[in-house]
Amino acid sequence: MSLLSIQNLHAQVEDAEILHGLSLEINPGEVHAIMGPNGSGKSTLGNVLAGRDDYEVTEGSVTFKGEDLLEMAPEERTREGLFLAFQYPVELPGVSTMQFLRTAVNSIREHRGEAEMPVGEFLKLMKDKAEYVNLDYKLVQRAVNEGFSGGEKKRAEIFQMAILDPQLAILDETDSGLDIDALRVVSDGINKLRDANRSFVLITHYQRLLEYVEPDFVHVLVDGRIVRSGGKELALELEEKGYDWIKKETAAVA
Ligand code: ADP
Ligand code: MG
Ligand code: MG
Repeated sequence: MSLLSIQNLHAQVEDAEILHGLSLEINPGEVHAIMGPNGSGKSTLGNVLAGRDDYEVTEGSVTFKGEDLLEMAPEERTREGLFLAFQYPVELPGVSTMQFLRTAVNSIREHRGEAEMPVGEFLKLMKDKAEYVNLDYKLVQRAVNEGFSGGEKKRAEIFQMAILDPQLAILDETDSGLDIDALRVVSDGINKLRDANRSFVLITHYQRLLEYVEPDFVHVLVDGRIVRSGGKELALELEEKGYDWIKKETAAVA
């Protein structure tokens, strides 16, 4: 059984249909890249999977571990092992990353019928993971993302992911606006967390991140549909030729 199964997904925002029948299967341990021109619906897909308001599914289905994802509230999705990192991460003024993650971790444990994590164990986990992903521990004590630089936000996301230990992580444009050092930190973090059970969806406009995190599959999203899927060589082809050729080719067969 696949981990995530998306079938014929149609979704709209403010009465305009953006996704026009998107299908995708993700198995445990696989890294999928979703590439596509601006405005093709990449973030819309992420938002639908996150269960954000304003995104209405009008047709199709999404199952996660065999269960109907679309029926789950956003927090429930997190508890079930889905992690989403966004292009524009939210700030939570007045809530430290430490508090935020402690609540999240304990909610996941409660869901699994486990007791709260003892404070000492939690602090050790925070320290270990901060070191693991190269995050300055001071950031952990500050309000979530408040006043963080672009690079710090991305590191903090990878850190959150390391703590929450999801089965499927979806990262939307996590590489955008990163300098080369920050890009390395982010991709090292992803590579370290990559294993036979954890899957990733890397949403990205550019091929750059994929030079550091080698995807198993690359999908090209154009006008709300996946128009082509292939291996990592497809990303290189896109980098070389841009998106226009694939748009023209798709228009020709449509
Ligand atoms: P991408 O991430 O591939 O650049 P998006 O999913 O952000 O594309 O956007 C796809 C289309 O949906 C665009 O035409 C965009 O204007 C529209 N769209 C996305 N989110 C909203 C929204 N909240 N309100 C109105 N239109 C939206
Ligand atoms: Mg966009
Ligand atoms: Mg986007």
